[in-house]
Amino acid sequence: MRISGVQTYSPKNLEETLQILYRHPLQFYILSGGTDLVVKMQDGVIHPKHLLNLSFVRELKGFSSEDGQIVLGTNVTFGEILENSLFRKQAEPLYQAAKCMGSPQIRNLATLGGNIINASPAADSVPPLFVLNAEVCLESVNSIRWVKIEHLAAGPGKTIRKPFELLTKIRFPIKPASWHGGFLRLGQREALAISKVSLAYWGVLENGVIQDIRLALGAVAPTVIQPPKTEAFLKGNTLTETEMTRVAEILKTEVHPISDIRSNETYRREMCGVLLKRALRQLMTQCT
Ligand SMILES: Cc1cc2nc3c(=O)[nH]c(=O)nc-3n(C[C@H](O)[C@H](O)[C@H](O)COP(=O)(O)OP(=O)(O)OC[C@H]3O[C@@H](n4cnc5c(N)ncnc54)[C@H](O)[C@@H]3O)c2cc1C
Repeated sequence: MRISGVQTYSPKNLEETLQILYRHPLQFYILSGGTDLVVKMQDGVIHPKHLLNLSFVRELKGFSSEDGQIVLGTNVTFGEILENSLFRKQAEPLYQAAKCMGSPQIRNLATLGGNIINASPAADSVPPLFVLNAEVCLESVNSIRWVKIEHLAAGPGKTIRKPFELLTKIRFPIKPASWHGGFLRLGQREALAISKVSLAYWGVLENGVIQDIRLALGAVAPTVIQPPKTEAFLKGNTLTETEMTRVAEILKTEVHPISDIRSNETYRREMCGVLLKRALRQLMTQCT
């Protein structure tokens, strides 16, 4: 098949896909939903001659819940995440991030794998995957390796994926029903905007005391980050307004945002504190 001078290969199964990638690792651009890749082609940022279209590879679709884990194929779309109550109940941060993504049209095309490999510090699915303790599977003809999500990105737009490897699956453990979480973000406007700051949380509260909590922030560093000092302060703490103000100050010292066309460093730092307080209030409501 040819699309405006670009040769597109559409393998039907994983074996064939991995073989093509192994034989021609640098010639092919991998195409999933195309919502990042095609925009870059249209803007003249990249000029692929060959596309490897994953849309028909059945092994990369769908998801399952077994042995205490949720496993998703890389080509699961954000629309599919929103349609399934499994994610609303057992992966609230990811479900809420899917709700924020683009528009309905974008959500129906955009895949989880494409969002991860694009490695934008503002990618909305990545902070949720951090707090859910996710791992991604990088597969080639002769190797399979599971990598913790926090070890995947090497900088804006860069990952440790080798050119002959394909991201095939994403998995994370299922937590007891007492765990709750969410995803909050600030952008230029509610919809169709790239996050200026985002925060995912996933935790458990008993009698007003935080038993455990995981936090991750997007768009405040070259990659998504977790703030270990803030998490440590929160564990075992009671969520009074005074404590929330204290922990918001701790978080502001842990992030190192940059100024760019979307926002400046001071605003991003302040908003980390604001989003954290909102998240903690939301967690209190969810856990009562
Ligand atoms: C109008 C608009 C609004 C948007 N809004 C948001 C938003 O709110 N939040 C947000 O986070 N993003 C947003 N995006 C960005 C984009 O939609 C997401 O990043 C999307 O999830 C990318 O997935 P995709 O399937 O379209 O990836 P593609 O564009 O197909 O691919 C993205 C990159 O990943 C590589 N790739 C894809 N799949 C694999 C794989 N399995 N293995 C290895 N490499 C792979 C591709 O080669 C490419 O480099 C928006 C984009 C547009 C155009």
